Amino acid sequence: MIEHYTEAFVLDREDFKEHDGIVHLYTEELGKVSARARGLKKILSKSSAHLEPLNFVRVRLMSMKSGYYQIIDVMPHDTISVREKKKDVRRCSVLLAMAEFIRKMTYELHPDEYLWDVMKRLAGAEADEGEMYRALLKAFGFDPQYATCTVCQHPEVSHFLHDDHGFYCRHCASKMSANAIVL
Ligand SMILES: [Zn+2]
Repeated sequence: MIEHYTEAFVLDREDFKEHDGIVHLYTEELGKVSARARGLKKILSKSSAHLEPLNFVRVRLMSMKSGYYQIIDVMPHDTISVREKKKDVRRCSVLLAMAEFIRKMTYELHPDEYLWDVMKRLAGAEADEGEMYRALLKAFGFDPQYATCTVCQHPEVSHFLHDDHGFYCRHCASKMSANAIVL
């Protein structure tokens, strides 16, 4: 068993068995990781409040022999709080979109220091959804600034499609049936 103490962004969580939960985290040390949290569904569980999606935390994880991770302890992050952001519908929706996009675009256990710094910066900044997507795409190695439309090679791209990791101009995106994100 190896213990990890790391900063993390809570991407999402789901119920597991009667009282437990599986929490999907993006951590500084391990990258994306899914970890089991015991007693998460108990009303008085202190860690349950900290482990709500979109929070930034410090977490102690144990990697178990059987290959899964367990959350041993969790504390609020000491410098990043999204409490005010979560109360504001528009700012909260940017955070939510950020968590979803990170979940889609990253692989488990592939830490990326640059990406982590971008996430922390976005959490503390007032970025709209397009700015957030552009900053993350750059961190993922798909800088929209240097992209051209996948269909017509137009130099001004306005959409990104997760399915093919392609950029599209406004015109080509409007003729697409798939759901592309708007930059
Ligand atoms: Zn085009």
